Amino acid sequence: MQHNFNAGPAILPKEVYEQASQAVLNFNDTGLSILEIGHRTKLFQPIMDEALALVKELMSLDADHEVLFLHGGASTQFMQVPMNLLDDNASAAFTDTGVWAAKAIKEAKLYGNVDVICSSKESTYNHLPKEWTPINPESTYLHLTTNNTIYGTQWQDFSPFYNAGVPLVADMSSDILSRPMDYNKFGLIYAGAQKNIGAAGVNLVVVDKNMLGKVSRKLPTMMDYRNHIENGSMLNTPPVFAIYICMLTLRWLKAKGGVAAIEKENIHKAKLLYDTIDAYPEVFTGTVAKEDRSLMNACFVMQNSDAEARFNAMCQQEGFVGVKGHRSVGGFRVSLYNALPYESVVALTEAMKQFAAKG
Ligand code: PMP
Repeated sequence: MQHNFNAGPAILPKEVYEQASQAVLNFNDTGLSILEIGHRTKLFQPIMDEALALVKELMSLDADHEVLFLHGGASTQFMQVPMNLLDDNASAAFTDTGVWAAKAIKEAKLYGNVDVICSSKESTYNHLPKEWTPINPESTYLHLTTNNTIYGTQWQDFSPFYNAGVPLVADMSSDILSRPMDYNKFGLIYAGAQKNIGAAGVNLVVVDKNMLGKVSRKLPTMMDYRNHIENGSMLNTPPVFAIYICMLTLRWLKAKGGVAAIEKENIHKAKLLYDTIDAYPEVFTGTVAKEDRSLMNACFVMQNSDAEARFNAMCQQEGFVGVKGHRSVGGFRVSLYNALPYESVVALTEAMKQFAAKG
Protein backbone atom coordinates (compact mmCIF):
# COMPACT_ATOMS: atom_id res chain seq x y z
CA MET A 1 0.00 0.00 0.00
CA GLN A 2 1.21 3.50 -0.88
CA HIS A 3 0.86 6.55 1.37
CA ASN A 4 1.09 9.72 -0.67
CA PHE A 5 2.78 12.66 1.10
CA ASN A 6 3.60 14.54 -2.11
CA ALA A 7 3.87 18.34 -1.89
CA GLY A 8 1.98 18.93 -5.12
CA PRO A 9 0.48 17.75 -7.31
CA ALA A 10 -0.76 15.90 -4.27
CA ILE A 11 -3.18 13.30 -3.05
CA LEU A 12 -6.89 13.80 -3.80
CA PRO A 13 -9.83 11.91 -2.31
CA LYS A 14 -10.28 8.34 -3.55
CA GLU A 15 -13.90 9.08 -4.52
CA VAL A 16 -12.64 11.84 -6.78
CA TYR A 17 -10.33 9.44 -8.64
CA GLU A 18 -13.19 6.97 -9.05
CA GLN A 19 -15.71 9.52 -10.29
CA ALA A 20 -13.17 11.22 -12.56
CA SER A 21 -12.11 7.91 -14.15
CA GLN A 22 -15.73 7.02 -14.80
CA ALA A 23 -16.28 10.45 -16.37
CA VAL A 24 -13.35 9.89 -18.72
CA LEU A 25 -15.03 6.73 -20.00
CA ASN A 26 -18.67 7.78 -19.93
CA PHE A 27 -19.61 11.17 -18.50
CA ASN A 28 -23.00 11.11 -16.73
CA ASP A 29 -24.25 8.30 -18.99
CA THR A 30 -23.94 10.48 -22.09
CA GLY A 31 -21.77 7.96 -23.90
CA LEU A 32 -19.18 10.74 -24.18
CA SER A 33 -15.93 11.28 -22.32
CA ILE A 34 -15.56 14.41 -20.18
CA LEU A 35 -12.45 14.97 -22.33
CA GLU A 36 -14.44 15.38 -25.53
CA ILE A 37 -17.29 17.68 -24.53
CA GLY A 38 -17.37 21.33 -25.56
CA HIS A 39 -17.05 23.87 -22.80
CA ARG A 40 -19.98 25.95 -24.07
CA THR A 41 -22.42 23.08 -23.77
CA LYS A 42 -25.25 22.07 -21.49
CA LEU A 43 -22.96 19.33 -20.23
CA PHE A 44 -20.11 21.51 -19.00
CA GLN A 45 -21.88 24.68 -17.88
CA PRO A 46 -23.42 23.01 -14.79
CA ILE A 47 -19.94 21.79 -13.76
CA MET A 48 -18.53 25.31 -13.94
CA ASP A 49 -21.57 26.74 -12.16
CA GLU A 50 -21.36 24.19 -9.36
CA ALA A 51 -17.60 24.62 -8.91
CA LEU A 52 -17.95 28.42 -8.65
CA ALA A 53 -20.90 28.12 -6.27
CA LEU A 54 -19.07 25.62 -4.05
CA VAL A 55 -16.08 27.94 -3.71
CA LYS A 56 -18.40 30.81 -2.73
CA GLU A 57 -20.21 28.63 -0.23
CA LEU A 58 -17.14 26.96 1.33
CA MET A 59 -15.37 30.31 1.68
CA SER A 60 -18.58 32.15 2.74
CA LEU A 61 -17.86 34.88 0.20
CA ASP A 62 -19.88 38.07 -0.01
CA ALA A 63 -21.36 39.52 -3.20
CA ASP A 64 -18.29 41.72 -3.90
CA HIS A 65 -15.99 38.69 -4.22
CA GLU A 66 -15.86 37.09 -7.64
CA VAL A 67 -14.53 33.58 -8.20
CA LEU A 68 -12.48 32.68 -11.26
CA PHE A 69 -10.86 29.55 -12.62
CA LEU A 70 -7.87 30.58 -14.73
CA HIS A 71 -4.91 28.99 -16.48
CA GLY A 72 -1.22 29.38 -15.84
CA GLY A 73 -0.71 28.18 -12.27
CA ALA A 74 -0.02 30.37 -9.27
CA SER A 75 3.17 31.59 -10.95
CA THR A 76 1.12 33.46 -13.55
CA GLN A 77 -0.65 35.24 -10.67
CA PHE A 78 2.72 36.56 -9.47
CA MET A 79 2.55 38.68 -12.63
CA GLN A 80 -1.19 39.03 -13.26
CA VAL A 81 -1.97 40.43 -9.79
CA PRO A 82 0.35 43.46 -9.97
CA MET A 83 -0.47 43.97 -13.64
CA ASN A 84 -4.15 44.41 -12.68
CA LEU A 85 -3.79 46.15 -9.33
CA LEU A 86 -0.49 48.01 -9.01
CA ASP A 87 -0.07 51.25 -10.93
CA ASP A 88 3.36 52.32 -12.24
CA ASN A 89 4.01 54.88 -9.51
CA ALA A 90 2.15 53.10 -6.73
CA SER A 91 3.61 50.81 -4.05
CA ALA A 92 2.69 47.41 -2.69
CA ALA A 93 4.00 45.88 0.55
CA PHE A 94 5.33 42.31 0.57
CA THR A 95 6.31 39.78 3.22
CA ASP A 96 9.33 37.74 2.11
CA THR A 97 8.72 34.37 3.73
CA GLY A 98 9.95 31.90 1.14
CA VAL A 99 10.93 31.21 -2.44
CA TRP A 100 7.36 31.63 -3.71
CA ALA A 101 6.97 34.95 -1.91
CA ALA A 102 10.30 36.08 -3.40
CA LYS A 103 9.08 35.15 -6.86
CA ALA A 104 5.92 37.21 -6.31
CA ILE A 105 8.11 40.16 -5.25
CA LYS A 106 10.28 39.84 -8.35
CA GLU A 107 7.29 39.98 -10.70
CA ALA A 108 5.58 42.86 -8.86
CA LYS A 109 8.71 44.97 -9.37
CA LEU A 110 8.04 44.85 -13.10
CA TYR A 111 4.89 46.91 -12.55
CA GLY A 112 5.30 49.25 -9.60
CA ASN A 113 7.19 49.92 -6.39
CA VAL A 114 7.66 47.17 -3.86
CA ASP A 115 8.29 47.58 -0.11
CA VAL A 116 9.53 44.37 1.44
CA ILE A 117 8.34 44.93 5.01
CA CYS A 118 9.95 41.82 6.48
CA SER A 119 12.06 38.85 5.47
CA SER A 120 13.31 35.64 7.03
CA LYS A 121 15.57 34.86 4.08
CA GLU A 122 18.76 35.26 6.15
CA SER A 123 17.76 32.24 8.24
CA THR A 124 16.65 30.13 5.27
CA TYR A 125 13.04 31.07 5.94
CA ASN A 126 12.94 28.89 9.07
CA HIS A 127 10.42 31.16 10.83
CA LEU A 128 7.88 33.85 10.07
CA PRO A 129 9.02 37.38 10.88
CA LYS A 130 7.47 38.64 14.12
CA GLU A 131 8.17 42.27 13.35
CA TRP A 132 8.02 44.36 10.23
CA THR A 133 8.54 47.91 9.11
CA PRO A 134 5.38 50.02 9.27
CA ILE A 135 3.11 49.46 6.31
CA ASN A 136 2.73 52.56 4.18
CA PRO A 137 -1.00 53.36 4.40
CA GLU A 138 -0.83 54.43 0.76
CA SER A 139 0.15 50.89 -0.33
CA THR A 140 -2.16 49.48 -2.96
CA TYR A 141 -2.04 46.16 -1.14
CA LEU A 142 -0.10 43.95 1.24
CA HIS A 143 0.94 40.54 -0.13
CA LEU A 144 1.23 37.42 2.03
CA THR A 145 2.03 33.80 1.30
CA THR A 146 -0.23 32.12 3.85
CA ASN A 147 1.65 28.80 3.79
CA ASN A 148 5.26 28.42 2.73
CA THR A 149 5.22 25.03 1.04
CA ILE A 150 8.97 24.50 0.80
CA TYR A 151 9.92 25.48 4.37
CA GLY A 152 6.79 24.42 6.27
CA THR A 153 5.75 27.69 7.89
CA GLN A 154 2.18 28.97 7.99
CA TRP A 155 0.72 32.25 9.20
CA GLN A 156 -1.76 31.60 11.99
CA ASP A 157 -2.71 35.04 13.29
CA PHE A 158 -3.98 37.39 10.63
CA SER A 159 -5.21 40.12 12.96
CA PRO A 160 -2.16 42.40 12.47
CA PHE A 161 -2.71 42.18 8.72
CA TYR A 162 -6.48 42.63 8.92
CA ASN A 163 -5.77 45.81 10.87
CA ALA A 164 -3.08 47.07 8.51
CA GLY A 165 -5.53 49.36 6.78
CA VAL A 166 -4.60 48.26 3.26
CA PRO A 167 -6.20 45.57 1.08
CA LEU A 168 -4.70 42.11 1.49
CA VAL A 169 -3.55 39.89 -1.36
CA ALA A 170 -2.65 36.30 -0.55
CA ASP A 171 -1.04 33.36 -2.27
CA MET A 172 -2.93 30.48 -0.61
CA SER A 173 -1.71 27.79 -3.01
CA SER A 174 -0.77 25.30 -0.33
CA ASP A 175 -3.40 25.89 2.36
CA ILE A 176 -6.50 27.08 0.55
CA LEU A 177 -9.69 25.69 2.10
CA SER A 178 -7.77 23.89 4.84
CA ARG A 179 -9.16 26.02 7.67
CA PRO A 180 -11.84 28.61 8.36
CA MET A 181 -10.67 32.16 7.69
CA ASP A 182 -12.37 35.43 7.06
CA TYR A 183 -11.80 35.16 3.34
CA ASN A 184 -13.83 38.34 2.74
CA LYS A 185 -11.07 40.31 4.45
CA PHE A 186 -8.86 39.64 1.42
CA GLY A 187 -8.96 41.82 -1.69
CA LEU A 188 -7.51 39.03 -3.80
CA ILE A 189 -6.66 35.38 -3.14
CA TYR A 190 -4.99 33.04 -5.59
CA ALA A 191 -4.09 29.37 -5.43
CA GLY A 192 -2.87 26.72 -7.83
CA ALA A 193 -5.36 23.86 -7.57
CA GLN A 194 -2.91 21.00 -7.32
CA LYS A 195 -2.67 20.66 -3.54
CA ASN A 196 -6.01 21.10 -1.80
CA ILE A 197 -8.59 21.65 -4.50
CA GLY A 198 -7.86 19.54 -7.54
CA ALA A 199 -5.49 18.59 -10.30
CA ALA A 200 -2.77 20.73 -11.85
CA GLY A 201 -3.79 22.93 -14.75
CA VAL A 202 -6.14 25.39 -13.10
CA ASN A 203 -5.84 28.27 -10.72
CA LEU A 204 -8.42 29.61 -8.33
CA VAL A 205 -8.67 33.40 -8.05
CA VAL A 206 -11.05 35.16 -5.68
CA VAL A 207 -11.14 38.91 -6.19
CA ASP A 208 -13.05 41.81 -4.70
CA LYS A 209 -14.36 43.46 -7.85
CA ASN A 210 -13.96 46.92 -6.27
CA MET A 211 -10.17 46.47 -6.57
CA LEU A 212 -10.30 46.27 -10.37
CA GLY A 213 -10.15 48.87 -13.13
CA LYS A 214 -7.95 51.30 -11.21
CA VAL A 215 -4.62 51.01 -13.02
CA SER A 216 -3.77 53.33 -15.89
CA ARG A 217 -1.89 50.78 -18.01
CA LYS A 218 -3.49 48.87 -20.87
CA LEU A 219 -4.11 45.23 -20.05
CA PRO A 220 -3.95 42.41 -22.58
CA THR A 221 -7.40 40.84 -22.96
CA MET A 222 -6.43 37.52 -21.38
CA MET A 223 -4.71 39.21 -18.44
CA ASP A 224 -7.60 41.47 -17.41
CA TYR A 225 -9.60 39.85 -14.59
CA ARG A 226 -12.66 41.88 -15.59
CA ASN A 227 -12.91 40.03 -18.90
CA HIS A 228 -12.79 36.68 -17.11
CA ILE A 229 -15.49 37.80 -14.68
CA GLU A 230 -17.70 38.98 -17.55
CA ASN A 231 -17.24 35.68 -19.32
CA GLY A 232 -17.76 33.40 -16.35
CA SER A 233 -14.18 32.01 -16.51
CA MET A 234 -14.80 31.06 -20.15
CA LEU A 235 -13.07 33.85 -22.01
CA ASN A 236 -11.32 31.09 -23.92
CA THR A 237 -11.41 27.30 -23.55
CA PRO A 238 -11.12 26.58 -19.85
CA PRO A 239 -9.24 23.52 -18.54
CA VAL A 240 -12.43 21.45 -18.56
CA PHE A 241 -11.11 18.30 -16.89
CA ALA A 242 -9.13 20.17 -14.22
CA ILE A 243 -12.22 22.20 -13.31
CA TYR A 244 -14.29 19.02 -13.17
CA ILE A 245 -11.79 17.53 -10.68
CA CYS A 246 -12.01 20.73 -8.60
CA MET A 247 -15.79 20.48 -8.59
CA LEU A 248 -15.64 16.86 -7.37
CA THR A 249 -13.08 17.72 -4.68
CA LEU A 250 -15.12 20.72 -3.51
CA ARG A 251 -18.22 18.49 -3.32
CA TRP A 252 -16.23 16.04 -1.21
CA LEU A 253 -15.10 18.84 1.10
CA LYS A 254 -18.65 20.12 1.51
CA ALA A 255 -19.93 16.60 2.31
CA LYS A 256 -17.24 16.28 4.99
CA GLY A 257 -18.53 19.41 6.70
CA GLY A 258 -16.49 22.11 4.96
CA VAL A 259 -13.47 24.01 6.21
CA ALA A 260 -14.32 23.81 9.93
CA ALA A 261 -14.48 20.02 9.81
CA ILE A 262 -11.36 19.63 7.67
CA GLU A 263 -9.41 21.94 9.96
CA LYS A 264 -10.07 19.57 12.88
CA GLU A 265 -8.71 16.66 10.85
CA ASN A 266 -5.73 18.71 9.69
CA ILE A 267 -4.86 19.67 13.27
CA HIS A 268 -5.20 16.05 14.38
CA LYS A 269 -2.89 14.80 11.61
CA ALA A 270 -0.26 17.51 12.10
CA LYS A 271 -0.25 17.03 15.88
CA LEU A 272 0.49 13.33 15.55
CA LEU A 273 3.38 13.97 13.19
CA TYR A 274 4.95 16.88 15.09
CA ASP A 275 4.56 15.03 18.41
CA THR A 276 6.46 12.12 16.91
CA ILE A 277 9.23 14.35 15.57
CA ASP A 278 9.55 16.03 18.98
CA ALA A 279 9.50 12.73 20.89
CA TYR A 280 12.81 11.66 19.33
CA PRO A 281 15.02 14.77 19.35
CA GLU A 282 18.14 12.64 19.03
CA VAL A 283 16.83 11.31 15.69
CA PHE A 284 14.52 13.93 14.13
CA THR A 285 14.86 17.72 14.20
CA GLY A 286 12.02 19.95 13.09
CA THR A 287 13.45 22.71 10.92
CA VAL A 288 11.15 25.65 11.70
CA ALA A 289 10.14 27.71 14.74
CA LYS A 290 7.48 25.70 16.60
CA GLU A 291 4.94 28.50 16.69
CA ASP A 292 5.12 28.85 12.90
CA ARG A 293 4.78 25.18 12.03
CA SER A 294 2.56 24.48 9.07
CA LEU A 295 -0.38 22.10 9.28
CA MET A 296 0.17 21.33 5.60
CA ASN A 297 3.90 20.70 5.20
CA ALA A 298 6.02 19.37 8.06
CA CYS A 299 9.79 19.57 7.54
CA PHE A 300 12.50 17.82 9.50
CA VAL A 301 16.11 16.77 9.12
CA MET A 302 18.20 14.00 10.65
CA GLN A 303 21.57 13.84 12.34
CA ASN A 304 23.63 12.95 9.29
CA SER A 305 23.38 11.88 5.67
CA ASP A 306 23.74 8.21 6.60
CA ALA A 307 20.65 8.30 8.83
CA GLU A 308 18.77 10.21 6.11
CA ALA A 309 19.70 7.60 3.52
CA ARG A 310 18.47 4.81 5.81
CA PHE A 311 15.24 6.68 6.51
CA ASN A 312 14.72 7.24 2.79
CA ALA A 313 15.25 3.56 2.08
CA MET A 314 12.73 2.64 4.80
CA CYS A 315 10.19 5.05 3.28
CA GLN A 316 10.67 3.50 -0.14
CA GLN A 317 10.24 0.02 1.22
CA GLU A 318 7.11 0.89 3.23
CA GLY A 319 5.45 2.85 0.41
CA PHE A 320 5.75 6.34 1.94
CA VAL A 321 5.82 8.46 -1.21
CA GLY A 322 6.99 12.06 -1.57
CA VAL A 323 8.69 12.60 1.80
CA LYS A 324 11.97 13.91 0.44
CA GLY A 325 12.51 17.60 1.27
CA HIS A 326 12.53 20.23 -1.45
CA ARG A 327 15.82 20.23 -3.32
CA SER A 328 16.68 23.67 -1.91
CA VAL A 329 16.30 22.54 1.73
CA GLY A 330 17.08 18.82 1.90
CA GLY A 331 15.92 16.54 4.73
CA PHE A 332 12.29 15.53 4.70
CA ARG A 333 8.97 17.21 4.02
CA VAL A 334 5.73 15.44 4.77
CA SER A 335 2.72 17.08 3.18
CA LEU A 336 -0.57 16.65 5.00
CA TYR A 337 -3.13 18.18 2.67
CA ASN A 338 -6.89 17.89 3.15
CA ALA A 339 -7.25 14.57 1.32
CA LEU A 340 -4.47 12.74 3.16
CA PRO A 341 -6.09 10.13 5.43
CA TYR A 342 -5.21 10.13 9.13
CA GLU A 343 -4.26 6.45 8.72
CA SER A 344 -1.35 7.46 6.49
CA VAL A 345 0.06 9.63 9.27
CA VAL A 346 -0.42 6.78 11.74
CA ALA A 347 1.48 4.43 9.41
CA LEU A 348 4.34 6.90 8.92
CA THR A 349 4.66 7.81 12.59
CA GLU A 350 4.64 4.14 13.62
CA ALA A 351 7.49 3.55 11.17
CA MET A 352 9.31 6.63 12.53
CA LYS A 353 9.04 5.22 16.07
CA GLN A 354 10.44 1.88 14.97
CA PHE A 355 13.21 3.62 13.08
CA ALA A 356 14.09 5.66 16.16
CA ALA A 357 14.02 2.58 18.40
CA LYS A 358 16.55 0.81 16.16
CA GLY A 359 18.92 3.76 16.63
N1 PMP B 1 2.94 29.49 -4.47
C1 PMP B 1 3.06 28.49 -3.59
C2 PMP B 1 2.84 28.76 -2.13
C3 PMP B 1 3.37 27.20 -4.05
O1 PMP B 1 3.49 26.19 -3.17
C4 PMP B 1 3.55 26.99 -5.43
C5 PMP B 1 3.85 25.62 -6.01
N2 PMP B 1 4.28 24.66 -5.22
C6 PMP B 1 3.44 28.07 -6.30
C7 PMP B 1 3.12 29.31 -5.77
C8 PMP B 1 3.66 27.91 -7.78
O2 PMP B 1 2.56 27.26 -8.31
P1 PMP B 1 2.48 26.85 -9.84
O3 PMP B 1 3.46 25.75 -10.05
O4 PMP B 1 1.05 26.41 -9.97
O5 PMP B 1 2.78 28.03 -10.67
